[in-house]
Amino acid sequence: MDHVVGLKCVICGKTYRADEVEYVCPDHGDEGILDVQYDYDLIGQRLTPGNLGASTDFTIWRYKPLLPIKPNSPVPPLAVGWTPLYPAPRLAAGLGLKHVWVKDDGRQPTASFKDRASAIAVVNAQEKGAKIVTTASTGNAAAALSGLSASVEQENVIFVPESAPPAKIAQLLTFGSTVLLVKGTYDDAFELCLDAAKEYGWYNRNTGYNPYMSEGKKTAAFEICEQLGWDAPDRIFVSVGDGCIIGGLHKGLKDLYALGWIDKMPKLMGVQAAGSDYMYQAWQNGEDILTKPPIEAATVADSISAGLPRDRIKALAAVTETDGAYIRVTDDEILQAIPALARGSGVFAEPAGATAYAGLVKAANDGLVSAEERIVVLNTGNGLKDVASAMKAVEAVGTRARYVAPNLESLKEIFG
Ligand SMILES: *Cc1c(COP(=O)(O)O)cnc(C)c1O
Ligand SMILES: [Zn+2]
Repeated sequence: MDHVVGLKCVICGKTYRADEVEYVCPDHGDEGILDVQYDYDLIGQRLTPGNLGASTDFTIWRYKPLLPIKPNSPVPPLAVGWTPLYPAPRLAAGLGLKHVWVKDDGRQPTASFKDRASAIAVVNAQEKGAKIVTTASTGNAAAALSGLSASVEQENVIFVPESAPPAKIAQLLTFGSTVLLVKGTYDDAFELCLDAAKEYGWYNRNTGYNPYMSEGKKTAAFEICEQLGWDAPDRIFVSVGDGCIIGGLHKGLKDLYALGWIDKMPKLMGVQAAGSDYMYQAWQNGEDILTKPPIEAATVADSISAGLPRDRIKALAAVTETDGAYIRVTDDEILQAIPALARGSGVFAEPAGATAYAGLVKAANDGLVSAEERIVVLNTGNGLKDVASAMKAVEAVGTRARYVAPNLESLKEIFG
């Protein structure tokens, strides 16, 4: 890994060699999240937009020289990444805009964006010869680690809050993980998982703790820019819970900018649920995120319910350094966004995925975006992950199925 020059603490700026520390800055404990530093001159000799244009690898591994793994490490067989970026002219027109795209990460192997990070975790754990890998999760990171582990026969232990949607728990059990339903919140599950990993020496995939997870997540930024012909969009809308996705997107954009492959930084627009708006509050009020206490988090968008966003330092920098914004939407707006996005683009999102679109609707209504801007909305999770919320959402907009007897007369009562 000669292209990785170190791991830099986001609090104190101290830089360590990759083999010197495991996960966090020893001086800052669990809060001392590290950022992987690269030798861009070296990477630029190994990878160019031209090589990529000729590549037939349509997974995140097409960007291998930009990822923190050894060049010859085996990668899991599941096809992670290169999800479609759909032009969405009807959504755009409905909001008075001209250029909107939807990137659908509901099409990942385990149906959420989290596969990008878990793929790196599995490679990294196997490089280290880890016997067991673990994570806490609201559900999707767990399903991702579980599925990717199954693909390479990697033993794993998963901590999820007992309230996780049944579809996500079903994925974990089906993939054969050891599943612990924590009687508490995601934040409780996270703390227990950290303790367990330390106690038993398990490989720890936790978000906002393991520095390599942002590196997997950054591949979405690479794909967006490559799919747009290296002409970076003006804004990217993404929902925010722990803040690892938005931090990862920022990292990917910074990589591309350092390599000279894009000539401007898109503005990152972080969208939070009103019931889980720690980042919005901190950004809006200029609060110190190292001392701001946790909030009580409750939202229909379970994947972004986080009382203390674990990657909050990177998540705040992503918005402030790109001149973006945090936006807050209500649970009703999130639910409305599910059928609106589905009917306007054909993309079926879980609540946390539709939250990004709800944020664009709000930004357009509030005049935060202008008509000419090129805007990407990232759907982070498939709608089938949470069917109960989808049913609630369609009911709220007055859509329901009609019963009909199995004969034409009965149909004629409906259609005449
Ligand atoms: C995890 C997740 C998010 C939020 O990502 P963070 O890194 O926690 O901010 C958004 N949407 C879905 C579907 C997720 O699974
Ligand atoms: Zn430090």
